[in-house]
Amino acid sequence: MQTQVAIIGGGPAGSACAIFLARLGISSVIIERDTFPRFHIGESLTGGSAELIREMGLEDQMASLGFPVKRGIWGHGPAGFTPFWVPIKVRETAASGLRESHAWQVRRSTFDEMLLRHARERGATVVRGTASTPLLSPDGRAVGVEVILPDQSTARIGSDVLVDASGQRTFFANAGLTGSKHRGRYSRQVAIYSHFTGAIRDTPQWGNILTFFKNKHYWSWFIPLDESRTSIGFVVPGDYYRSRGESKEDFIERELKEFNGNLAGRVADVTRVEEVRATSNYSYHVDDYTGNGWMCIGDAHRFVDPLFSFGLNIGMAEAREAARMIGGFLAGETRGTVRPFAAFERWSDRGLDRAQTMLDGFWETTFYFGMLVRKFEENFIDLFAGRLWDDDDYPAIIAMRERLAEHFAAD
Ligand SMILES: Cc1cc2nc3c(=O)[nH]c(=O)nc-3n(C[C@H](O)[C@H](O)[C@H](O)COP(=O)(O)OP(=O)(O)OC[C@H]3O[C@@H](n4cnc5c(N)ncnc54)[C@H](O)[C@@H]3O)c2cc1C
Repeated sequence: MQTQVAIIGGGPAGSACAIFLARLGISSVIIERDTFPRFHIGESLTGGSAELIREMGLEDQMASLGFPVKRGIWGHGPAGFTPFWVPIKVRETAASGLRESHAWQVRRSTFDEMLLRHARERGATVVRGTASTPLLSPDGRAVGVEVILPDQSTARIGSDVLVDASGQRTFFANAGLTGSKHRGRYSRQVAIYSHFTGAIRDTPQWGNILTFFKNKHYWSWFIPLDESRTSIGFVVPGDYYRSRGESKEDFIERELKEFNGNLAGRVADVTRVEEVRATSNYSYHVDDYTGNGWMCIGDAHRFVDPLFSFGLNIGMAEAREAARMIGGFLAGETRGTVRPFAAFERWSDRGLDRAQTMLDGFWETTFYFGMLVRKFEENFIDLFAGRLWDDDDYPAIIAMRERLAEHFAAD
């Protein structure tokens, strides 16, 4: 099989990449190891994710699938009862004002299946199988990928461009195609989560995400997924989790009662309807994640931390930018160079470094972060919405970086 672009992974980054490529008239093959629908964590969308979904022409489908409308984020401090509110707002152009908008909460099984189906409808071929080896020409250019099919036979898919969208499995990094993979600042955190029915939501706007904070690096999410089902998760330092010596099930059950008075009041009568899952080592970054005829997008090269729900936003925004750059490459713009997608790395790093600054600022200099939110309210509305690439210099980011430099120097 031969295609212009082979994409490893049919998660949001991979499917969105195929959809944006199709808009440019570029063919693609998505290789996906799992049978969809399948469980995946990452259920709250930012305003920026919603904008990308609208751009892909999927707003009507989001409504018809009944995903809850999210108008913003409620954050609760340790006492639990003095919440702060961050609304979702859009900015039509960089110069225009902000306007109230909304995103959605999603069950990833349904959402990812919808995106993959849409990619297929737009012309992408979906191959069920596990990518096993990137194929390189003698001069080191990526020319395709070997895939293990469900019957254990192997197939070769030839391509002009090979995209790794394999998520936390970081396929190219494991295959030694990229530079080194490093632990991120939040790699010692553990997330323990499940789905519950019977949780008490706010009314009438029951679709918003609620977050609860206890101590540094110790927080919880409450995400309504439909009329009855709520995703609840705790993100805690790994040392604390291990020190409890509890099973995942016992841990989550106890935290539900003890973590925060406001949360406890909402979950007194819940029933767990999913298995309890735990994710650790989720924070990392990969060096040199583009090369001759290949690139990584989404979690395949970097994931910072789930606190601000940037994951899908970043994956889908990178998918759009990757498609644009692949279009240029196929048109001959950067062909013949050894790093034709180097500009993609610079673009991506700019946004993800801002996400990192937001996270570091929140955890390391919490009081100052709060002061900046009041001083640069519009900057923060843009940044929380996932507009990580838009402005040349967000004053809030500059100020936070200066403060963080002092903080880390004093460490
Ligand atoms: C605890 C936690 C909570 C989170 N909460 C949020 C949130 O609220 N909002 C948010 O936006 N983000 C959240 N995230 C992040 C979000 O889950 C990810 O950023 C997002 O799923 C990344 O999308 P992706 O397409 O890059 O990877 P994925 O969604 O992981 O998709 C990768 C796909 O590649 C496939 N694959 C892997 N290897 C191969 C192979 N060799 N061959 C073929 N297929 C392969 C996998 O089966 C998978 O379907 C959270 C993350 C964590 C850890």
